[in-house]
Amino acid sequence: MKKISVAIDGPAGAGKSSVARAAAEALGYVYVDTGAMYRAAAVYALDSGIDPETGAERLVSELDRIDIAFAAAKGADGAQTVLLNGRDVTKRIREADASMGASAVAAIPEVRAKLTAEQKKMGEAGGVIMDGRDIGTSVLPGAELKIYLTASADERAMRRYKEIAGRGESCDFESIKRDVARRDENDMNRAVSPLRRAEDAVLLDTSELSFGDSVEKVIDLIKEREKHVL
Ligand code: C5P
Repeated sequence: MKKISVAIDGPAGAGKSSVARAAAEALGYVYVDTGAMYRAAAVYALDSGIDPETGAERLVSELDRIDIAFAAAKGADGAQTVLLNGRDVTKRIREADASMGASAVAAIPEVRAKLTAEQKKMGEAGGVIMDGRDIGTSVLPGAELKIYLTASADERAMRRYKEIAGRGESCDFESIKRDVARRDENDMNRAVSPLRRAEDAVLLDTSELSFGDSVEKVIDLIKEREKHVL
């Protein structure tokens, strides 16, 4: 069966990354977490004393110095190892300031142009499941399968809460809910490549689905689409 290109988009905390990763592993696809790249760009800014909200000009002037890569080896929890200028930032990019920072730097056109070009290259060969906000609309507009994965705002905030609490970090549900809502607001209303469902994307609402069922649905959709691709 020929492997296809799969674009998965949706709002924060919908479970895109974990579902996409599990489906990719089950089917032997390459998984690309584009959010991790925006997060790494935010970590570069934070580490360099650049405020992600107000430091666009400086960040843009330093774009050539930012090298983001995925290492072949996976981390202990199966997450893709993310390298920022050769340094392992896999854990760092999941911290709250990196999440909000990612949403801010993702609104800078030059940052998007750089990362989008790299993502297009990663998707060129096909056999890839890529998740993000603009994959179906901008990075891989020709993807054979596009999925818009979402869940209710409460459910998404709860999943994020459980993920953070599961790592043993202290967190507060209400503030996570506020952060998720703020990121959605940023991501849906920015001028460049805002988050929106591509016209030809399959809508998958996972509010009532378990993780395993969500993965199974995605796998079924991929297998079905593979049959129709020559
Ligand atoms: O997917 P994740 O929550 O890790 O993404 C972090 C942030 O990166 C998002 O809130 C969004 O602002 C940005 N992003 C984006 N386009 C993508 C992936 C992520 O703008 N393709």
